[in-house]
Amino acid sequence: MAWFKREKKAIEQPVPPDERKVKTEGLWMKCESCRAIIWKKDLEAHWNLCPKCGHHYRLSAKRRLELLFDGRWVEHDAQLASSDPLRFTDTRPYAARLRESQRKLGMQDAILTGEGLLNGRAAICCSMEFGFIGGSMGAVVGEKVTRAIERCIAQRIPLVVVSCSGGARMMEGTISLMQLAKVSAALARLDDEKLPYISVLTDPTTGGVTASYAMLGDLNIAEPGALIGFAGPRVIEQTIRQKLPEGFQRAEFLLEHGFLDAVVPRKELKTYIGSALDFFIG
Ligand SMILES: [Zn+2]
Repeated sequence: MAWFKREKKAIEQPVPPDERKVKTEGLWMKCESCRAIIWKKDLEAHWNLCPKCGHHYRLSAKRRLELLFDGRWVEHDAQLASSDPLRFTDTRPYAARLRESQRKLGMQDAILTGEGLLNGRAAICCSMEFGFIGGSMGAVVGEKVTRAIERCIAQRIPLVVVSCSGGARMMEGTISLMQLAKVSAALARLDDEKLPYISVLTDPTTGGVTASYAMLGDLNIAEPGALIGFAGPRVIEQTIRQKLPEGFQRAEFLLEHGFLDAVVPRKELKTYIGSALDFFIG
């Protein structure tokens, strides 16, 4: 029982919700899964895994390549950039969005292609960057993945693509949708050449990326808790007029229902891919 009673007044919030987030940006953060207070440096040192509960936070494209490759890697097609073919403008010009992301992230578009050694075996790995316009797939992403596939065929080495995307890039209209067909056709050629392709689906992998290369791997593996789907749950609920089951569109649910081959924790990802490639190539 409390000794003192005080009328609780709602704390005034003069700052709009969008801007509130900036205030919490400091050296510490609260884990959204276990509520533990984590030192951000500690989180970064653990490949963005919560040191207490192992919750998987998003990993940048560059860090992802560092995680997968044995040491140094060579970047391919780093200079490819969107030409804004539709001169598209919504609330802001697309060109301005591109420039901002390019400046902020130091990359030209939402994917990095690297070539190096993965568990001692030469491989090409593409890694998507969610921070770049929601990891959306426009002409550049499609072209870079296609070129990566063509390089794999030319050099007879395996391909790994780590997806992290909101889907096709609407600012490029049909041109972004064409990438689905382009990449899928290139992957069919990789298959004809009997070269393995491992798709890694991370949180989130949705829309056109799920509808094309993310689900076309010889192995489709996901990180724990990753949101994976085509349309979002709200759209589906409205369409089928039914409540969706618990955990719908999460990696574990998809594994249980046969959409994925495995759910692999980030710490075991490299070893897992390495042994899968050993199995495929021998
Ligand atoms: Zn945690």
